[in-house]
Amino acid sequence: MKIITSIFDLNKEIKNYKNVGFVPTMGGIHNGHISLIKASQKKKSKTIVSIFVNPTQFNKMIDFKKYPRNINNDIISLKKLNIDYLFLPTTKDIYKFKSKKFVLRKKDKILCAKFRKGHFEGVLNVMNRLMSIIKSKDLFMGEKDYQQLHLIRKFLSKKFDVRINACPTIRTTDKIALSTRNKLLNKKSLEKASQIAKLLIKIKKRSKTQSSKFKLDLSTYKKELEKKFNIKIDYLEFRDEKSLKLNNFRTKFRLFIAYTINKIRLIDNF
Ligand code: AMP
Repeated sequence: MKIITSIFDLNKEIKNYKNVGFVPTMGGIHNGHISLIKASQKKKSKTIVSIFVNPTQFNKMIDFKKYPRNINNDIISLKKLNIDYLFLPTTKDIYKFKSKKFVLRKKDKILCAKFRKGHFEGVLNVMNRLMSIIKSKDLFMGEKDYQQLHLIRKFLSKKFDVRINACPTIRTTDKIALSTRNKLLNKKSLEKASQIAKLLIKIKKRSKTQSSKFKLDLSTYKKELEKKFNIKIDYLEFRDEKSLKLNNFRTKFRLFIAYTINKIRLIDNF
């Protein structure tokens, strides 16, 4: 595994981007990231993983500061996976050149875009930069961050003529979606997160069989979950898988949630 820390070295090293699969991450490597890496390795002859905790996508400085980082552990995990390149750019290098500014329209300001102002503008900004540096034709991303996937497809896939390979969410045996942020949760919060995930899986299952009147009534569930687990739910919504429009249950849909537990904000979809 070659560790590359500058754009200059990266350009020297990678001549043929066509065969390179790209897995962008913010580190704290877990089995969710590893599933993307394996998907890339299966499809492409070489794989490049980036680790960059992007400051512009954090709408709160405190959140950026306390984001779990452990580069030494990450390097050990990635070496074991036999990836070809690990790109560890500096903020200065990533943000040194001029690049397009992204503005979300009203219809995109749903789910996390509504509650984390500027977050996706920051994500699109850094992905636009990373993709113009790493000219891979295959990007591997997780359905765990479904709205992120949706917006990158919408804003960047045509521009870079890149295939977005969406990979399913990897969960622990007790149904918690793996996330670097889980490292910030104590045992009690993890237990609650597991119970919440199990309940939401049940609700999703039921929504497929019951009448649409029942399906649409998530406000009662929202209140109950908030009370039972002492959490603050930003949204709990069924939305169409393709358009992310509020769902009419005639097309494929997912149940989306974002909640704060013990000051840590988690997202998931089922
Ligand atoms: P992050 O490091 O959290 O920015 O995530 C980097 C990539 O890994 C993104 O494409 C995420 O959607 C994906 N990812 C994060 N958690 C999971 C998971 N539990 N299962 C599958 N993919 C994931």
